[in-house]
Amino acid sequence: MKKTVSGWGRYPVMEAEVRELLPGSTPALPEEGVIARGLGRSYGDSALADTLYRTLPRNRMLDFDGERGELHCEAGVSFAELLRVFVPRGWFPPVTAGTKHITVGGAIASDVHGKNHHRDGCFSDYVRELTLLGPGGEIFACSREENPELFHATCGGMGLTGIILEARMRMRPIGSSKLDVMTLKAENLEEIFRLMEEYGDWPYSVAWLDCMAGGRKLGRSLLMAGRFREDGRLDYTEKAAPGIPFTLPGFLLNRGTVSAFNALYYHRVRGKRTSGIQDIHSFFYPLDIISNWNRIYGRQGFLQYQFVLPKENSYEGMKSVLEEISASGMGSFLSVLKLMGPENDNFLSFPLEGYTLALDFKVQPGLFDFLDGLDCLVADLGGRIYLTKDARMSSGIFEEGYPGLQRFREVRNSYGMAGCFESEQSRRLEI
Ligand SMILES: Cc1cc2nc3c(=O)[nH]c(=O)nc-3n(C[C@H](O)[C@H](O)[C@H](O)COP(=O)(O)OP(=O)(O)OC[C@H]3O[C@@H](n4cnc5c(N)ncnc54)[C@H](O)[C@@H]3O)c2cc1C
Repeated sequence: MKKTVSGWGRYPVMEAEVRELLPGSTPALPEEGVIARGLGRSYGDSALADTLYRTLPRNRMLDFDGERGELHCEAGVSFAELLRVFVPRGWFPPVTAGTKHITVGGAIASDVHGKNHHRDGCFSDYVRELTLLGPGGEIFACSREENPELFHATCGGMGLTGIILEARMRMRPIGSSKLDVMTLKAENLEEIFRLMEEYGDWPYSVAWLDCMAGGRKLGRSLLMAGRFREDGRLDYTEKAAPGIPFTLPGFLLNRGTVSAFNALYYHRVRGKRTSGIQDIHSFFYPLDIISNWNRIYGRQGFLQYQFVLPKENSYEGMKSVLEEISASGMGSFLSVLKLMGPENDNFLSFPLEGYTLALDFKVQPGLFDFLDGLDCLVADLGGRIYLTKDARMSSGIFEEGYPGLQRFREVRNSYGMAGCFESEQSRRLEI
């Protein structure tokens, strides 16, 4: 059935043939322009193609080995479902994104990182094995031992090696559904970098940054560091999320309103250092509190720009990027800074050891040129841009940032996947 579809940023929008990947079926795939789609939480055009296969009907949990904490499940299982089933039993996903409305398949394909990347790495680091539907309907099992090249191409491979059907992954034991959270106020970029290092032994950490502040306040931010308590409480209830009833007019978001919001958010925390107890929803998934918040950016949609810089260039690089943003007036409501640990062996995985910043920008005149300029800065500093957030970078910038691309292409060619699995993004980036 033809449908109008987009990613979470609502840019770009296209017409696509949308099919359901039904339980037990191995459909004959079209010869080109096919991509898997989970819950559509990638922001740009990575889950857009002529033909989309929605994996949500395949959402069974098949087995759980309580000794090893290993779950065998279908790729359409959502993190919301994982939490509902496992938190009351004392288990938590080893790595989670900032929303629970993503699928296991999507988390593998994007090789998702969380607030614990500096300590624990990416989601795929906890996947032992997966099965993949190939172009001719064949099913490949892959792991670090069996078809290892295909495994490392698929984890972080943005659906371009086939449709992930099932995975075996390790869950993490927890002794509570509550977390101790320390919130620290940093007056500028220098201070937040110092604090992130100082609190680097906390399992989870993330900073919210006021990207509109300039001068001496450049980089002022709030650091949230958290760790699960051990009090034995394992209560978990899904909270109903109110929605934005309609798409808001884009003009509501302008330099003034964004600056005011950012200042308010920063000043809502009074003390220099406060501590408290938070539940899983408020610490890990604050954005899920409003179900379709992506509508606040207006009809044109928005882009999320997330880049990572190697540690040695991170401070100077972030400073330059923030100076550019603060001067441009292209404000972002949400700027999130995270510390990242070493990169893994997956060919297109995003993280590398250093700092990453993610910013939301309303689509507006001048934005694309502005971001092209930031791309050059990031590339010159040895950084890269996250594919699952991207909707507009050039193939040259992409190629510069991802040295594993050549091997990725070789794997796709050797399994005959290159013709069949392609997204709007892979066409744009000439993957
Ligand atoms: C509010 C919010 C917060 C976020 N926070 C983070 C974060 O902290 N860290 C982070 O890393 N990401 C984050 N993300 C991005 C999100 O985690 C990824 O985009 C994730 O891949 C979305 O999963 P999905 O099921 O919605 O996949 P989709 O958006 O449907 O697809 C994303 C990609 O995965 C591929 N894919 C999906 N299912 C399969 C499958 N079964 N087989 C093969 N390929 C498949 C698609 O082809 C596409 O390339 C965030 C997104 C939002 C909206």
